[in-house]
Amino acid sequence: MKIIRHSQHMQSAISALKFKGKSIGFVPTMGCLHAGHASLLKKCRKENDVSVLSIFVNPRQFSPQEDFKRYPRTFKKDENFAKKEKVDIIFHPSVDDMYPLGFLTSVEIRNLSEQLCGRFRPGHFQGVTTVVAKLLNIVSPHVLYLGQKDAQQAMVIQTMVKDLNFPTHVKVLPTIREHDGLALSSRNIYLSPEERVAARVLYQALLAAKNQIRNGEYKPHRIIQKMRSMILAKTSGPVDYIELVDASTLKKLKTLQGNVLIALAVWFGRARLIDNITIRI
Ligand code: AMP
Repeated sequence: MKIIRHSQHMQSAISALKFKGKSIGFVPTMGCLHAGHASLLKKCRKENDVSVLSIFVNPRQFSPQEDFKRYPRTFKKDENFAKKEKVDIIFHPSVDDMYPLGFLTSVEIRNLSEQLCGRFRPGHFQGVTTVVAKLLNIVSPHVLYLGQKDAQQAMVIQTMVKDLNFPTHVKVLPTIREHDGLALSSRNIYLSPEERVAARVLYQALLAAKNQIRNGEYKPHRIIQKMRSMILAKTSGPVDYIELVDASTLKKLKTLQGNVLIALAVWFGRARLIDNITIRI
């Protein structure tokens, strides 16, 4: 396994591999790897000649009061994790390499970026699309692997890839969960043992919503009310949002129809956790 720290070196390595006719699969991450990342890496390895993992905690997707500084950085552990997953190349650039002095560009996908998490994290998705556009130009993968856990992020990136004609195929893989349903996330390490137990209510609330819909409830506000009360019984942290939206536009639904994304963001102590499920009506 190679570790490459400079974007120009990465571009040369990829050119050489492509010259030999190799197919390139790519999994971008912020590190602190877990089984959710492993599921993307396994698929990537299976479907491509060369699998590239990037580890970069991207300052541009954090606003000043967010957790950029304390975001877990566990490179040595991640390196071993990646070896076990038979990753071929880790791309691990510095902030200066990605954003050298004089960097002025940003990529913005309007509309989709302003819904759900975008309302609470202004500028976040602009940071995500800017870094992913750069990573796609550096790694130039045939296939890009993303997780459904970050549903809005996946949609924003899919839209960018289509709108800007990146020659990359995007695959979105299912959310990997702990035994009690909590979605795996690097931020779960912020949870105290009590908060960790309480946080399983998120998936329980999503499943309760699904059940209500299966039993004929089509009024989003009633479903949200029940989810909110389940969740507030387990955390005193703010509920940023619980929403039922159209799964392709992310617009709020007044009555449920088509593909519905049920998404939420809730604070447990210092951890802001997100989760979602999709349901076809
Ligand atoms: P992150 O390192 O959190 O930025 O995530 C990197 C990639 O892993 C993104 O495409 C995420 O959607 C994906 N991912 C994170 N958690 C999970 C999970 N529990 N299941 C599946 N994919 C995940």
